[in-house]
Formats: sequence, C-alpha cells, structure tokens
Amino acid sequence: MYSLQEWIRHGDELRRPFHVLPNITSSRHIAIVGGGLSGLTIAYLIAKKRSDITITLIEENKSLGGVISTWKDGEWCCDLAVNATRPHPAVWRLVDDIGLAKKFLPSNPAANRRWIYDGVKLQSLNFLTALKIGPLNLYNSMKKAREGGCSIEEMIPDNKIADALTLGIVNDVAANVDADFLFPSLTRFGHEPPKKWSSIKRKIKRTYPLFVPKRGSVASFDGGMETLVNELKIQIEKLQNVKVMLDTRIENPRQAADICNVPETSVIWAAPAREDRSRNKLSIFVVGYREEDVDSVSVGYGTLIPNSNIPISGILHESDIHSSKRAPEGHRLFRIMVPHSRWDGDHKKIIAHVRELLTKADPILFEHIGERTIPEYPPGYLSEISQSEVTLNRVGWNFSGVSLTHVIAEAERVADLF
Ligand SMILES: Cc1cc2nc3c(=O)[nH]c(=O)nc-3n(C[C@H](O)[C@H](O)[C@H](O)COP(=O)(O)OP(=O)(O)OC[C@H]3O[C@@H](n4cnc5c(N)ncnc54)[C@H](O)[C@@H]3O)c2cc1C
Repeated sequence: MYSLQEWIRHGDELRRPFHVLPNITSSRHIAIVGGGLSGLTIAYLIAKKRSDITITLIEENKSLGGVISTWKDGEWCCDLAVNATRPHPAVWRLVDDIGLAKKFLPSNPAANRRWIYDGVKLQSLNFLTALKIGPLNLYNSMKKAREGGCSIEEMIPDNKIADALTLGIVNDVAANVDADFLFPSLTRFGHEPPKKWSSIKRKIKRTYPLFVPKRGSVASFDGGMETLVNELKIQIEKLQNVKVMLDTRIENPRQAADICNVPETSVIWAAPAREDRSRNKLSIFVVGYREEDVDSVSVGYGTLIPNSNIPISGILHESDIHSSKRAPEGHRLFRIMVPHSRWDGDHKKIIAHVRELLTKADPILFEHIGERTIPEYPPGYLSEISQSEVTLNRVGWNFSGVSLTHVIAEAERVADLF
C-alpha cells in the first residue's frame, strides 16, 4: 500500500491507522483543538510549510504543552510525564528543525539496566528474561497475538514481566492493554512493508540528521522535556499565520468550526473526545539523596513494580539516566510513580515504601510534584479504530499512539499531506 520511500520516512508508524481526512489539504484555515505536543507540533509543521494557511490552536489550559512539564527546584530537575525518547527519525527531524540538536543528548550508557521488583527480590530485565519465559512459549503466544485483538498478557506468557512492561508504558496491567496498539510491528498489525524490515531499518538509520543512539538507548533534553515544548512555543510565536487561543474549552468539533468559521472537516481534534474510554490516574513524587546515602543502589534506568500490594509502580533513576543535570553535584534524584488505583493518598506510605525499596537513609528531598492521567487502550482497541469510518481528523496519544515518538511521527505525516 505504502511506497518504500514512505516506509523509510515513517517506519512502523505506517501500521497505525491514520485518521486524517485527505481533503484537509484544501482548507485555508485549520482549527486545532488541544495544545499538547500533538497539536503544537502539527500547528508548527503545517504553518511553517504553508504560509497561506491560517492555523488557530485552541487550548483549554492557560498554557500550552499538555501533559508535558518539567518540575524544577534549584538544580533539581524532573519531568512529570515523558522524560526521554527512543530513536526515531521523526523526532530527530523535529529537534533539528527547531534548533535543539545541541540540547538533545543521548542517555547515559551506564544507566541502561532495568529491574523488576516482585515484592521479594529484584530481577534484572535483559535478554535472559526471554529465555526464562521460554522461547517456544514466547513464539507460540506471539503467533497467537498476530490473530489480532489480544492483550499484552496473552502475548507475553509471564504475568510479572508483562505487567511490568505495561506499567512502564501506560501505567496499567497487561490484561487491560491492547497488544496491537503497543507493539503493532510484533503483532504484524496493519500494512506490511514492501521489503524485509531489516533492510528498511538500515535505510531508516541512514536518514538520521543527528546521531544514532545505540540500540536500546534513549535521548533527552537538557532542561527536561519542557525544553522541547518551550522551543515549539517560541517557533509558533514567530509564525504570523498561527493564532493561539488559551483558556478556551471546546465541547465538540462543531463548536471549534463555528469559532473559526470553517467546516468541521477543517478541525483537527488533538484532545480527548467525550466518548473516550476511561483513564488511569497517577501521582508523581521526587526523592533526592546525597550520593553516599544511596551508594548501595546500582546505577540504572529504574525498577518496575508489578506487585499491586505496593503503591509504587515504578522508580526511575532520573539523575542516572540523563546526560544533562537532574540533581546538584554529589546527589541523586529518583522519580516515583504512584497509580491511584493502588494508593489511598497517604504520603507517609510512599516514603515508607521508598525506605524499603531504595535506602533507609533520610532523603534530603521528598516532594509530590503532580498528577497525570494516561488513556486506557483495552484489547481490540487498535482493530476497532482502524475499522471505524474517518469522519473527523483525530490525532494525539488519546487516540492513535501512546508515546512521544508516535505523536511526533503522526504530526509529520499530517504535515506531509500539505
Ligand atoms: C506520567 C507519564 C509518563 C510518560 N512517559 C512517557 C515516556 O517515557 N515516553 C514517551 O514516549 N511518552 C511518555 N508519555 C506520553 C507522552 O507524554 C504523550 O505521548 C504526549 O505528551 C501526548 O501529547 P498530546 O498532545 O497527544 O496529548 P496531551 O498532552 O494530553 O494534550 C492534549 C491537550 O488538549 C487539551 N484539551 C483537552 N480537552 C480540551 C478541550 N475540550 N478543549 C480544548 N483543549 C483541550 C489539554 O489541556 C491538553 O493540553 C508519558 C505520559 C505521562 C502522563
């Protein structure tokens, strides 16, 4: 269906449904509802490419950026939502385009170890994990998952590992998460590339304008993810054909169309829709120590905790992961993820568990830095949206892809239409 060139540019994103009406390109005025990364990136890319098109970006909050924001206190620095991104050319292209190449740094290679804590012991997650599951078991369940509509629990025949994986991505247990949605290339969802994937991947790698982080590594911004959002805001302000309306809640596409005096087909919905499924709420804490108080904690990416008796679902070693500074000299910073489904709201319980999981020493920083919600993507979700009729332009993580890479790649696909 798609050409080799399209596969090289967009990669596996082409497996995902793309709910943008082709006639959007004939619009001279486009209303984008939702000023998170999705709406912001689409507004920027279209407006920059087509000065003859006016974009009105409508956001219900008083500022743009959506779930992305970075908490700072002196030299302590921590993201509330996404903190790093895996290799993806669409991200590199955006970063390069808005002049952030020098602030976009590969993660610390010494911090790639990940663990699972089951309530009794820490288990390292690595290629041996697949052996523990049993290669034949894994092969059979992957094959079954290719029939479509399976959960991650059905795809990965080890509940603990499956739950840890989905908790780390969508803060939900594996039984509730659509395998096609999370890993369409593994379940072979959607279109197939015209050539072997390994050959396409080689070609994709040659297109990176910046650097190619080693397999399994990630990259992040000096100053946190807010650096990306802030730069997009600056770039948008420079474009005369973008108008931003803050503090404006839009109830439905018709209302956005009426405000901008455009047909509904010229509205791009980059926010949750009323009929959307429920969302998982979580709290985010930061805890900071002097290095000597946590020297028993190995340097790594972090620990996922599938055991639901523990209110903490994950501990990320923020100051180990990033090459840019996240803690004052001689200190380490950890981000603690607390799903509300596991927690009664008592902060003391979180610090008590942190003492069990990290160190008995007193932290010099312990703070609840905010709350976020993550959309639910139940089994069968991707099949359902790919079979539904496209009547409205819908984008963003509430609809088509959970990660920053999907959101940016989708924005690029939208702009490529113009
Ligand atoms: C805790 C957490 C951890 C994450 N970790 C990672 C990670 O490690 N890696 C990764 O790649 N991604 C991660 N993500 C996901 C990443 O942050 C998202 O993919 C991305 O930020 C989504 O951007 P968006 O614009 O689609 O949605 P949003 O940021 O949700 O933006 C939607 C916008 O629409 C606005 N809006 C809503 N309703 C209306 C309305 N009715 N009218 C007007 N405006 C409205 C909202 O205020 C918001 O600004 C994480 C997310 C969270 C919350």
